[in-house]
Amino acid sequence: MEKLIITVATTGAMTTKENTPYLATAPAEIAEEVYMAYQAGASIAHVHVRTDEGKATMDMEKFRQTVGLIREKCDIIINMTSSGGLGFSDEQRIAPQVELKPNMGTFDAGSMNFYRGVFLNPPEFLEKLGTAMIENGIKPEVEVFDAGMVWNAKRLMKDGFLKPPIHFQCCLQVHGGMEGTPKNLLHLVESLPEGSTWSAFGCGPTALAITTMAIHMGGHVRVGMEDNVYLTKGVLAKHNYEFVERVQRLAKEFERPIANVAEARAILGLPAKK
Ligand code: ZN
Repeated sequence: MEKLIITVATTGAMTTKENTPYLATAPAEIAEEVYMAYQAGASIAHVHVRTDEGKATMDMEKFRQTVGLIREKCDIIINMTSSGGLGFSDEQRIAPQVELKPNMGTFDAGSMNFYRGVFLNPPEFLEKLGTAMIENGIKPEVEVFDAGMVWNAKRLMKDGFLKPPIHFQCCLQVHGGMEGTPKNLLHLVESLPEGSTWSAFGCGPTALAITTMAIHMGGHVRVGMEDNVYLTKGVLAKHNYEFVERVQRLAKEFERPIANVAEARAILGLPAKK
């Protein structure tokens, strides 16, 4: 089995300070949380940014500051969101990727209901995003929330908008997508195109079970307050690295070594240094 890549997702678009007072929202807070998670063994940072009021945003300056501060501290692989929440324009979603050229960016492979809203990823947008990523040397992390999105990704690959081998993120227990059950994770993974790499997370109470399954099945994992704020029932994590440390403990039991940044780059086919 390959070494285990841990992605830390500190902030996301949906988690609020009401959910947890420990949520990092300012660029310096996000960078510090990423750095602590990196020291604990995370090799990828999935980055979202917020306004000064804590609202989800695709603001270029916030991305620039946050990525700059992370870069000052460590060489963790940057995986920037291309959604930032719901309702941003195509231009707002693509511009930060093109401007800042992170190693990786998310690519949400279809539209869906998303809690009380609608998460729109129509074909024309995905083709535009895929083209921009190829032109700028950004590796897509293809997020699938539902089984049909795998088929969308296969179609986009066939039409040249995604370059194989694809790296998938199986996003479970997001309202509007697939529930975080073992059967659903198995089904998604079995549906992926041959040669793909994959990672998984389950939101909320499904987080630990999906993480454990992914470690056991040879996938990679994503943890952090974007997806889950509780370490155990009723106990909030104070820092994202606490979730990374838990992955370390689980992986040790499964005798699955953790990938450092250089090893994660090799597994994902990223350039050795950026
Ligand atoms: Zn995200």
